Parts: sequence; C-alpha cells; structure tokens
Amino acid sequence: MTKITVAKGDGIGPEIMDATLEIIKAAGAKIEIEEIEVGEKVYLAGNTSGISQESWDVIRRNKVFLKAPITTPQGGGYKSLNVTTRKFLGLYSNVRPCRSLHPFVSTKHPVMDIVIVRENEEDLYAGIEHQQTDEVVQCLKLISRPGCEKIVRYAFEYAKQQNRKKVTCFTKDNIMKQTDGLFHQVFDEIAKEYPEIENEHWIIDIGAAKMADTPEAFDVIVMPNLYGDVLSDVAAQITGSVGLAGSANIGEECSMFEAIHGSAPRRAGQNLANPSGLLQGAILMLNHIGQTEVAEKVQNAWLKTLEDGIHTYDIYKEGTSKQKVGTKEFAQAVINNLGKKPDILKPVSYSNNSALQLPKYKRKPSAKKELLGVDLFVHWPGLDPNELAEKVKKIEANGIKLTMITNRGIKVWPDGFKETFCTDHWRCRFKPTEGSSINNTNIIQLLNNAINEKVDTIKTENLYAFDGKASFSLGQGQ
Ligand code: NAD
Repeated sequence: MTKITVAKGDGIGPEIMDATLEIIKAAGAKIEIEEIEVGEKVYLAGNTSGISQESWDVIRRNKVFLKAPITTPQGGGYKSLNVTTRKFLGLYSNVRPCRSLHPFVSTKHPVMDIVIVRENEEDLYAGIEHQQTDEVVQCLKLISRPGCEKIVRYAFEYAKQQNRKKVTCFTKDNIMKQTDGLFHQVFDEIAKEYPEIENEHWIIDIGAAKMADTPEAFDVIVMPNLYGDVLSDVAAQITGSVGLAGSANIGEECSMFEAIHGSAPRRAGQNLANPSGLLQGAILMLNHIGQTEVAEKVQNAWLKTLEDGIHTYDIYKEGTSKQKVGTKEFAQAVINNLGKKPDILKPVSYSNNSALQLPKYKRKPSAKKELLGVDLFVHWPGLDPNELAEKVKKIEANGIKLTMITNRGIKVWPDGFKETFCTDHWRCRFKPTEGSSINNTNIIQLLNNAINEKVDTIKTENLYAFDGKASFSLGQGQ
C-alpha cells in the first residue's frame, strides 16, 4: 500500500479525478489516499500561493502527489502553484509521452511516439525579473551545471530503460552560447556514457519545425524549461489532442503527476470531460511507485476502449467513433475492459518501468576564477553613444578603461552605426589596460566615481575567466 496525496482541483478536476481513481482502484492499485485542497478556493481565501502550510506538510510526508488541474484566478498577485510545487520539491524532470492513437484518434501524424523530457526548475522560470530603466525590463535566464547534468542523465537513463533508440537535444546555442551552450556541452559529455543510444543536437527553431512536420524522426527529446514547456504542448496536440496526455514531474525525493490540460471551467459539472489526460498521469504514477502490473492493465484497457470507439466529445468523430459518452460512462467502459488488450493498437508492457535510480549530483572541484573586467549597466536617456562615452570615461580609474558600449547587446561605441536603434539602457564594459589588473576594490572605485559624475548605474556584472577561459559574451558586432 502506498500513501499518496490527491488534489481534486477546480473546474473539471473533481470529475476527472473521481473517474481516474475509480479506474485505478478497480484495476487493483494499492493506494491509500490523503486529500488536500489546493487552487481557486485557497487563492480566493487570500492565500496568493494557492496552497496552505498544512497541505505542504501532507505533500512532503507522502512524497507522491496526484494533482487535477486548478484554476488560477485572473488578476495580478497569484503565483502559479505548478511552478512553485516543482521548484519547492525539486521536481527537476518533466516527462511527457506523446503517442498517436491512429486510426482511432484523428491525427496528421499516424506513427508518432515521442517523449519530451523537459528541465523543470530553472531557465527563464527562475522568475527573476526587474525593470531597470524607463524603457527596459529584464528576466534572468539561469542555467546550472547540476540542472543540465540531472535532466540530461534522466533523459538517457529513461531511453535506456524504455529501449528507446535515440535522444535528441534542442537548444539555441548559436545565440545563447553561455547558457544554452552549457546545456549542449553537458548533453555531449553525458551522451558519451551511453554509446548504445544514438544522440543528436538540433537548433531549436528548425528542430521544432521538423518535430511539428515529421515527428516520426524523433524518439526522446530533452530540452531546457521554456522550450520544453512550449514544445511539449505542441507534441501532445499533434498526436490528436492535448486532452489525452499526462505528465510526470520527478524529483530525487518527491514526484507529482497530472494531466497536461487545464481546468476547462466551461465544461465543469456536466459529465463531459475526458479523464484520459489525468488517467495517463496516474499510470505514470503507478509505474513510478512500482505498481507496474496495475499500470499496464489500466493502459491496455484504456487503449482497448479508445479502439472500441467509445469516445468523449473532445475526440468524438463521426465515422471513426462508435459511441459518444460522458466522463462516468467512459470510466466504466475502461473498467469493463480491464484485463483485455487492444487488437490493433500495440499493447503496452511495463515489466521494467519502475522509478529510475539516478546517482546524486556531485559538485566538481572549483575552477580557477580570474576577474578580467566589469560591465556597468547605465540608465541614460540620451541618444548619441559618443556623448555617453565622453561622460563615462570620466569615471575610469587605476588603469581600468572603458573599452566598449553596447545597447541591447549590439556594439554602439566605438565605431557604432548611426542606424542602430538605442534605448535608455546601456552596457559600459571596463577592462584593465595592458600591464594592469582589476579587483573588487577597483570596481567600487568605478562606482564611487559614477556617483560623483552622475552616471546612473543600475547594475554591474563581473567578467570572469574560469580555468583561463573567458566566460562572458562579446558585444554583438565586436
Ligand atoms: P484548458 O486546458 O482548461 O482548456 C482548453 C480547451 O480544451 C477548452 O476548450 C477545454 O474545454 C478543452 N479541454 C481541456 N481539457 C479537457 C478535457 N479533459 N476534456 C475535454 N475537453 C477539455 O485551458 P484554458 O482554458 O486555457 O485554462 C483554463 C484554466 O486552467 C485556467 O485557469 C488556467 O490557469 C488553468 N490551467 C491549469 C493547469 C494545471 O493546473 N496544470 C494547466 C493549464 C491551465
């Protein structure tokens, strides 16, 4: 018996959760349920995170969490419960299988069978944003070595366990050479440990286009958080419906399972919703907690039900479907099929599908870190970069010289183009002249001089070399 936390959520949540639990219990799932309330009611009662402290205690105690979709109320101030849960509980891996059910669910891609493995904790979802000038706001994209190693290793271990042949990595490292560059580099390093699995890297733009056009060319695809968020919805949708996909959020200690769709409030309370997405989440959960036989039984009964043409309104199609049913009738049809296998769709076998055991991340020895310069970001409402350069040169000190000014990354001084559009947000790069060096005291002197010269510095960014390798981007056009 495994104790799990269940949240029935909002909108269609309670109906699809009841249907899901009924099916898995009928299949023999050995689970004990502890229910918590999260979502709309909790938000509207004044809790901006949508969950109470007591509910966190329950989730952390039981470690396994099956969650129905929730409604995030409109208006500012409400934090996404999903993002918070993933990050608080260290659920670094988001796994989303997307498989076509041709010819029973209509799709343009009859042979698609992709698993998207999305990094789930970092990237632009660190949510660190600031307005810095009248015209410019920023969002920090944080990519870490542990984050990359954990997710890439998960993708390869998953491929190995599931007998999948290839792992593809999507990044945009032709532009983001440091952040996406690290993700790609770690992918190449870890791929070498799995010579039996094919590996490849695609630049995300053409990779995404290829996936939407020829999904049969892909198997497992691993990517950073934002790309994974977008492309996992695309992948699910092109199998025929987002309503059929579930996802697993896996951490070292805890895990959360859900449907990928939202709470569909307009369909709520009418016995209309398709419980398949949440049921797929529950099947991933049963595998994760080692109840693989139950998971297999439920999945085969579900495939058989779809094959029998018993469909909810969202996938019902004249000609292909045989019977349009509601949530409860669909659940009953799956229960009636427990023990049966599909005739045309391939039955599943989950004999070796338990939770993956991955080694814990080990921190590497520190590299030799050397300060090479500093970028001062300046709020200045003027237009001519030469004028700014004259002003900023006045703060130079102790052999630390202004070497470059960029605006939104493009070099505008020295030798900028008058055509380049400039905002009020400027990066001024300072470096020591030949024979000098720079330290933190020099940076404080620069900042002090900036105050005296009325140069409005909004932030600084140190320029480092790690083990002799300069680890910052050049100005575009430099
Ligand atoms: P949605 O996924 O709820 O609905 C999109 C469309 O798909 C609607 O037409 C809906 O009727 C249909 N649909 C979705 N699931 C279905 C199902 N199981 N059966 C039949 N039809 C289904 O997306 P939305 O309308 O953009 O969002 C509604 C609410 O859900 C919002 O408050 C949003 O914040 C929330 N949401 C929650 C989660 C989550 O909790 N994981 C995820 C996405 C959206």
